Amino acid sequence: MPAVYPPKYVRHILVTLQSRGHQAFLVGGCTRDMLMGRCPQDWDISTSALPEQVMEIFPDSKPTGLKHGTVTVKINSRSAEVTTFRSEGAYTDHRHPDMVSFVGDLTTDLSRRDFTMNAIAFSPDGLMADPFNGTSDIDNHLIRAVGVPERRFEEDALRMFRAVRFSARLNFEIEKETLEAIKLKAPLAANIAAERIREEMEKILLSRSPEKIFELIELGLLDSYLISRPQLIDDGGSLRKLPKKALNRWTCFSFLLETYGCIESVEDFLSKLKLDNRSIKVCNGAAQMLKDPECPDTPVGWKRLLNKYGVDAVSCAAMCGDALRDGGYQKQLKAVLKSGECFSLKHLAVTGNDLMEIGLRGRELGEMLLFLLDYVMEFPQFNQRDILLSLAQGTEE
Ligand code: ATP
Ligand code: MG
Repeated sequence: MPAVYPPKYVRHILVTLQSRGHQAFLVGGCTRDMLMGRCPQDWDISTSALPEQVMEIFPDSKPTGLKHGTVTVKINSRSAEVTTFRSEGAYTDHRHPDMVSFVGDLTTDLSRRDFTMNAIAFSPDGLMADPFNGTSDIDNHLIRAVGVPERRFEEDALRMFRAVRFSARLNFEIEKETLEAIKLKAPLAANIAAERIREEMEKILLSRSPEKIFELIELGLLDSYLISRPQLIDDGGSLRKLPKKALNRWTCFSFLLETYGCIESVEDFLSKLKLDNRSIKVCNGAAQMLKDPECPDTPVGWKRLLNKYGVDAVSCAAMCGDALRDGGYQKQLKAVLKSGECFSLKHLAVTGNDLMEIGLRGRELGEMLLFLLDYVMEFPQFNQRDILLSLAQGTEE
């Protein structure tokens, strides 16, 4: 029996559907989490009612995925997804079913689900359907494909990433046959859109066992993104030491891959995975700093980096540097940032206009601004308008 119960509004949806003569169950992640005593992130309901019947029963509902039979039902500003029992046709693209049909029976609906732990149905009146022994797999901390694993991964290759993601999140093992099937079917990962792979990878990176990301490599699931597959990468626990922020973990992971010669460059790898441009810039800047054997050990060194790469990239590099080498970088950086000393033209006590007033133009003006900035990074006490102007004039004469 579950250790966590659904909130009132979810029970209301279930009971209302049942009172209208339909079957209604909690399914998927929420049932799994309830059985494990974890609080589910969202509530998914499976029902024998057709989508239009669900919408008729709950007027405050939206057809959010009608093609798949999903209606989002809202009760007092909280919502749950209600999906009609369905079965799926063939999967010619190794990712999406060619067609979906609504069926009247729960077991068929459960049999299309990915893993036994995600194929358990529960209704609050105590009825539980577990045709694939998911509860026993949960008890044994096992991730096992529903049905024949190879066939299931042929249908949808993303399931192989989901298996590793769940093992990272729940600290479960992937059952032997399921694992063997992943090794065999790993080349099918080439059919999956980069964005979907990135999403799964990011969830692994942000899980409690981020080092499981290297399992994707060992299993061959990232082959289309790598120039070579190393046997084993030891991250020395660095990913785990980093705060749970995506950019830190992407930087550390891709920096390690570059160090091990598995990828051309951090920038190339993250672009292939279609991270957004800002994230790529931050991670790439941070990785450049990590590659530099000369670590800044003076405030002016930090300020030059801040000027060149920006605060986000330098902070990311400092966190990764500490996780990888324990260099005390964050402490040094924090002191520099706290000092409020100037490291960008924005905070320089003179502007381009000031320099125009004393007769500077074009390239000469630009070079003078950079010279003054470099000067105040070294001598912060001289970041004063009159001092800098006389310095500019003096240098000019
Ligand atoms: P999470 O807690 O991360 O949301 P979840 O198990 O709820 O985990 P979802 O992606 O929200 O995962 O999917 C809900 C349910 O739908 C799953 O538990 C599973 O039963 C089914 N499902 C999702 N994706 C697939 C898939 N690719 N193949 C088969 N079944 C799937
Ligand atoms: Mg979910």
